[in-house]
Amino acid sequence: MSEKYTAQLSEFMENVKAKNGHESEFLQAVEEVAEAIIPFIDENPKYQGSKLLERMVEPERVIMFRVPWLDDQGNTQVNRGYRVEFNSAIGPYKGGLRFHPSVNLSILKFLGFEQVFKNSLTTLPMGGGKGGSDFNPKGKSDNEVMKFCQSFMTELQRHIGPDTDVPAGDIGVGGREIGYMFGQYKRLRNEFTGVLTGKGITWGGSLIRPEATGYGTVYFAEEMFKTKNDSMRGKTVAVSGSGNVAQFAIEKILQLGGKVVTASDSSGYVYVPGGIHSDKLDFIKELKNVKRGRISEMADKYDDVEFFADERAWNAPCDIHVALPCATQNELNGEDAEKLLGKGLILVAEGANMPSTPEAIEVFHNAKIPFAPGKASNAGGVATSGLEMSQNSLRLSWTREEVDEKLHNIMKSIHEACETYGRDGDHIDYVKGANVAGFVKVADAMLDQGLV
Ligand code: NDP
Repeated sequence: MSEKYTAQLSEFMENVKAKNGHESEFLQAVEEVAEAIIPFIDENPKYQGSKLLERMVEPERVIMFRVPWLDDQGNTQVNRGYRVEFNSAIGPYKGGLRFHPSVNLSILKFLGFEQVFKNSLTTLPMGGGKGGSDFNPKGKSDNEVMKFCQSFMTELQRHIGPDTDVPAGDIGVGGREIGYMFGQYKRLRNEFTGVLTGKGITWGGSLIRPEATGYGTVYFAEEMFKTKNDSMRGKTVAVSGSGNVAQFAIEKILQLGGKVVTASDSSGYVYVPGGIHSDKLDFIKELKNVKRGRISEMADKYDDVEFFADERAWNAPCDIHVALPCATQNELNGEDAEKLLGKGLILVAEGANMPSTPEAIEVFHNAKIPFAPGKASNAGGVATSGLEMSQNSLRLSWTREEVDEKLHNIMKSIHEACETYGRDGDHIDYVKGANVAGFVKVADAMLDQGLV
């Protein structure tokens, strides 16, 4: 970045920090976007003079509310609920709900901000939003989770709707939670409508939605490989996480002939030298989705699986050609990135949102390792949510093959958009490409709609 732009960036960031000083994750997400967009605006006069970036970093609306509920012992519990409605220039607000004790306004604003660009990249008409609660579903009974979800939706229902704001799942919010929230929305509003995505298949859900984020990330990685006349086949892959995104990323890598040697959760990672095959993947799905257990239990069950407590998957004692961080933000730092370079790394695609720190991204960038930011590579989840909304509006259901093909095509078109704005000789800067491509569509709509 030239000196001129460095000065503009630091002035811009000073202003954002003055208003959001304590929101470190949000500032991190904004800075990454601003680095790409400030030079782009400078080179494109059309986008000058209307404070587009300054307007984009202000959410259109932030809703914060009390969520009281009774636990199984009859004790009163109180959590905090949020919905950040970030930008509706190109469609209704769309983005997941996260239930995790770490949830705060900074995390939801970073996720909502990223979502604006991601949704723009999908080619579908969806604005950006995000929400959730500091509620921890871990260790709670189904009854407690239901009571919490009902109380959460009792307030949230005033603010959302199929043409206004359509939430989905994220960390801690899967099919069970979406079901309880949908039930309460329907009861309060007396409407059977597509107000949430990730619904069950018998009540308005879309085939392939559960698989979409993981599959989409791997489809995107395969497009990245194609630009190098290479493929996933025969590659050794480190995946972090063991939730929704990780499970289906692993599944698709297996189908494409890659070998996945790790999975993880917040307590550590498992190393599987021979690779996770379908029997072990089935075990992970059952463990995480039904029994809601810990990844360490995999090492108890299989002799050829080793568990490393409190360590990250990037430490796996083997070559790693591909890294797919699929757990949470800032889970791959500069030191991890250096370590991965030493293990033969050739490609990184983010399944999670902002899992790589700015230091890690710089290491990949300097080493010219193709690196896909989550807003491009994990956009398959929200894209398929968009397909679920279309099916709800049409009141019909597409087949598995139809949805999968649409998802695959969307991931290809996101890759093309990144290439259009990010190609520099024989290297593609996916961070720049995704940010600029995402920005252009939203900025054009904002210009058309005037100062709102
Ligand atoms: P899940 O709740 O299904 O799984 C999350 C996984 O990440 C679990 O293995 C969890 O371990 C681990 N994890 C969560 N928090 C931490 C933490 N603080 N430190 C270490 N590990 C952690 O969530 P998803 O798979 O749905 O989401 C994973 C990532 O993908 C998130 O960044 C999410 O925003 C992103 N994403 C998800 C989409 C979706 O469609 N679901 C769409 C696009 C992005 P543990 O069980 O121990 O908590």
